Amino acid sequence: MIEDMLRTPAAVQDAERHTAHNYHPLPVVISSAEGAWVTDVDGKRYLDCLAGYSALNFGHRHPTLIAAAHAQLDKLTLTSRAFLHDQFADFCRELAALCGKDLVLPMNTGAEAVETGIKVARKWGYQVKGVPAGQANIVVAEGNFHGRTTTIVSFSTDSDARADFGPYTPGFRIVPYGDLAALTEAIDEHTVAVLLEPIQGEQGVVVPPEGYLHGVRLLCTERNVLFIADEIQSGLGRTGTTFACEHEGVVPDMYLLGKALGGGIVPVSAVAADTDVLGVLQPGQHGSTFGGNPLACAVATEVVRLLATGEFQRRSAALGERLQAGLRGLIGKGLVAVRGRGLWAGLDIDPALMSGREACERLMERGVLAKDTHGSTIRLAPPLVINEEEIDHAVAQVAAVLAG
Ligand SMILES: *Cc1c(COP(=O)(O)O)cnc(C)c1O
Repeated sequence: MIEDMLRTPAAVQDAERHTAHNYHPLPVVISSAEGAWVTDVDGKRYLDCLAGYSALNFGHRHPTLIAAAHAQLDKLTLTSRAFLHDQFADFCRELAALCGKDLVLPMNTGAEAVETGIKVARKWGYQVKGVPAGQANIVVAEGNFHGRTTTIVSFSTDSDARADFGPYTPGFRIVPYGDLAALTEAIDEHTVAVLLEPIQGEQGVVVPPEGYLHGVRLLCTERNVLFIADEIQSGLGRTGTTFACEHEGVVPDMYLLGKALGGGIVPVSAVAADTDVLGVLQPGQHGSTFGGNPLACAVATEVVRLLATGEFQRRSAALGERLQAGLRGLIGKGLVAVRGRGLWAGLDIDPALMSGREACERLMERGVLAKDTHGSTIRLAPPLVINEEEIDHAVAQVAAVLAG
């Protein structure tokens, strides 16, 4: 322990001294960033292959987004939803159009978007589907990650996320991810929604079997159940399309968005759905002081405009193939599996070799920042502004770490 302290730079100790230990950050203290690169307090540069868990899809300080934020800071930052403001209409209209939905409900964090989705689905269940009061259930998947609130951790299957935070919110059923038969079995006349990540990010970038999302869509339509896609991490260009559901040509009833929607500048989340679903909410039934604030809307509208060009989705698809191919070349050379889509990869390291944490520490020493999850799995999710050379560089550093 003392040896550890001696080896830990003063800036790292400083940053952690008065902090609750709910994170175990890599020992790097970042002070500036641009594009796909960050610089620490000693001037060392690192290629950012986590991108704020996809909150930085457009890279650090994308010029268009920074300009929008600066301009808005000089005009108006907050009104609350008690009043309207001039940034609101464009944001809601353009995001709704990007999603192909009628309506948008803005919130701040991803967890709030999930909570909003749950509340809307329950209300829809009682008012539209006719579920008896207090009987609604929502089906979710094993290995899910939807955020950290008490209700959301109630249906987590990760004991770190869930243990000792009870009593838990009832009304959720958990089925294995990717198993249509189990889902069919779990749905009954009181089911109001199926809530899923189209690719499970925190679980290690787990892509469901081909046809699963399509099957979920058919099943939900047939049983009059809302399909809620949590695209907070998978959406907005990460997988080579605007939404990960598109890979199976599937349109959910409700999109949950967050992370990249705020351009890496401010927390912005949203629920997008048609009027027959989101229209169940009336004034006073849901809200947020900061949700849909002028600064958030100004930045997020520019995010939507960047996505509307399709450029980032194309980059993610093309560069993603290069990334996935490079990583697949390391199977048998320290990797046991590679999963992913677009610029999003989950790598399983041979557990005999090293833990995911150790791999990330060694990558850090080599100037690449990544994050482990669940034992020997690491995730790569570089900003979509990364270029071919930088991808090859990242893959080469992974290879070098695995080679010892
Ligand atoms: C990150 C994440 C959330 C929670 O978002 P926060 O902004 O951290 O509350 C929810 N769902 C998924 C799929 C996520 O990746």
